[in-house]
Amino acid sequence: MKVLPNLYFYPWESMTENNCNTFVIKGKTNILIDPGHYHLLHELQRKMTGDGLSFDDIDLVLVTHPHPDHIEGIAYWNSMDTVVAIHKEAHEFIEKYRSFWEEATGKTMPHFNVDIFLKEGTLRAGGNTIQVIYTPGHAPGSVCFFWEESKVLFSGDVVFAQSFGRFDLPGADPVLLLQSLEKLVSLDVDVLAPGHGPIIQGKGAVKENFYIVLGLFQQTVMKSMQNNETTL
Ligand SMILES: [Zn+2]
Repeated sequence: MKVLPNLYFYPWESMTENNCNTFVIKGKTNILIDPGHYHLLHELQRKMTGDGLSFDDIDLVLVTHPHPDHIEGIAYWNSMDTVVAIHKEAHEFIEKYRSFWEEATGKTMPHFNVDIFLKEGTLRAGGNTIQVIYTPGHAPGSVCFFWEESKVLFSGDVVFAQSFGRFDLPGADPVLLLQSLEKLVSLDVDVLAPGHGPIIQGKGAVKENFYIVLGLFQQTVMKSMQNNETTL
């Protein structure tokens, strides 16, 4: 689904199986963000083909964080020229927890190669400028991508429409998550493109969503932390 002249959005809408949203920036360098589960790649491929896009045309794959429903699919590009980039802490985390996930799900996680370790700062690719923003809290090595030319924030599982990422998973931390949310609020965002659920378009709507989410965080997470309760 085309959202902007050079931005494609592939929402995951199945109610029976979890997977992430995927985004493609089309240009001199074709960029794919979060390929999702390996065993569900055929669904993404089918949708992209409908838009005249092919996996083999992807030059750069960016991953927001090391959860299997976002990262596994990068294995497809293992043997290709495509550059795969994730944060170093994310890569270390996924290798550390590989056996944990395999035991928990009963599935084998594919092995994959990483070409570049992302750092906070500016990434330039095919005439596009992408700010890599370090946003831990939901997962170690989590990053958000702010595409400056189109003012699109790819927020992974840090912030969604009307909610925020879980912080009860291994390596998660609610205090870091709050700091990450606060870091994103000041950005001048026209399109919020989260890892799950709908996108939000319009500067005002995005700002309003940030305030709703921060308010919700204060009301629930911070309150229970002050009361020394456990919130899941
Ligand atoms: Zn996640």
